[in-house]
Amino acid sequence: MPYQADESRYDTMKYRRTGRSGLLLPAVSLGIWYNFGGIDPLENSRAMLRKAFDLGITHIDIANNYGPPPGSAEETFGRVFREDLKPYRDELVISNKAGYLMWSGPYGEWGSRKYLIASCDQSLKRTGLDYFDIFYSHRPDPDTPMEETMGALDTIVRSGRALYAGISTYSPQQTREAARILREMGTPCLIHQPRYNMFDRWIEDGLLDVLEEEGIGCIPFSPLCQGILTNKYIDQIPEDSRWARFEEMFWGDEVTAARVAKVVKLNEIARARGQTMAQLAIAWTLRNPIITSALIGASKPQQIEDVVGALDNLELSQEELGAIEEILAS
Ligand code: NDP
Repeated sequence: MPYQADESRYDTMKYRRTGRSGLLLPAVSLGIWYNFGGIDPLENSRAMLRKAFDLGITHIDIANNYGPPPGSAEETFGRVFREDLKPYRDELVISNKAGYLMWSGPYGEWGSRKYLIASCDQSLKRTGLDYFDIFYSHRPDPDTPMEETMGALDTIVRSGRALYAGISTYSPQQTREAARILREMGTPCLIHQPRYNMFDRWIEDGLLDVLEEEGIGCIPFSPLCQGILTNKYIDQIPEDSRWARFEEMFWGDEVTAARVAKVVKLNEIARARGQTMAQLAIAWTLRNPIITSALIGASKPQQIEDVVGALDNLELSQEELGAIEEILAS
């Protein structure tokens, strides 16, 4: 049966403006860092992409190195796009990035013009797309002039390979510099993709102010702290969890007893609101209007459904926010 998107897909999703741009993004976006690689069952990846779009998640986030193996998440996306989503291309915002190691030799990572443009071309081929909606510098390169990296993004946009330029994990100062250079080139910086969740709040220390002043959107990744800010680890470490499967790649997050103890208390607040822990974590991430979208990952379609349920109640009272602060500081 060919895929037919759910006709009610725009009924409940909320769309938020990306900085001071014309682009609206869904309050929840789906990234394909894990669970869409060559090692993962294609039909589950397909089911998640379909579920996301059926729920009004119009934004899918990719990077060249997602897999494993690197590049295979793009191939999975490309296949599902070709077989299911192609008729909806103009309803989708697909982003891609380059910055981390992708191929051997001196041109396979970081922020040179050589790497970014070659990587973008490879990513277009692997996904089968004609263009990306957003193309990011995945990480700042301490050894390449910012003008060169931003110049490459500008070229990528001007040549039609992407519609908008973005940056990821840049510091407040680097963000200001990147925004200035891009503005001068006539390709404004659309969006910043930083890491942000209840356990990692570095963006509150300057970055959010810069983004507001510059009119740049913000799409935090790992808002569930890779699954720690859900009910999943409260009683045990499930065998099919990311922590059990990929502990060595867990990106600085750890499932510790201290964290789980906090999640147990946070979960009480969630329950009192009639929400799951994941829903509370998403409502908290979106509490600041500068945040455009919460960029989640998933291993099952039901998780996406659960997270989107957060949109039924995004309001957090002063009492609830105070109680959350107390738990996080304890
Ligand atoms: P999350 O913090 O949302 O973690 C996703 C994981 O949480 C899932 O794989 C699943 O874990 C668990 N989960 C999700 N929903 C639920 C639920 N309702 N109930 C229970 N568990 C749930 O985000 P990610 O860390 O996956 O990052 C999201 C995206 O951000 C990436 O796909 C990527 O696009 C982007 N990213 C960008 C980076 C950058 O440098 N710019 C770096 C990292 C990510 P499990 O698999 O255990 O079931």
